Amino acid sequence: MYEPPVSKSAAQLKKRLTNLRNARRMRQARQRAKLRRRQSLTTAERAIVLEKTHKRCHICGGKVPRRWQADHVFAYGSGG
Ligand SMILES: [Zn+2]
Repeated sequence: MYEPPVSKSAAQLKKRLTNLRNARRMRQARQRAKLRRRQSLTTAERAIVLEKTHKRCHICGGKVPRRWQADHVFAYGSGG
């Protein structure tokens, strides 16, 4: 099992905690940016979705109305 290194002084511990916090904040900022980027499809992407689905809803098979929303068949968080 991974054993984190033991800090030899208060200053070293402070530096280590600061580095961990900064790394966490950068990870969170990247994740937020990624979430924002995938929020809306471009017009070209929407056209691809309509073509792939033959303008039919993948759940009920009904015709896609003029105004529609795309959704993942498999949740984005599950790799869809
Ligand atoms: Zn439907």
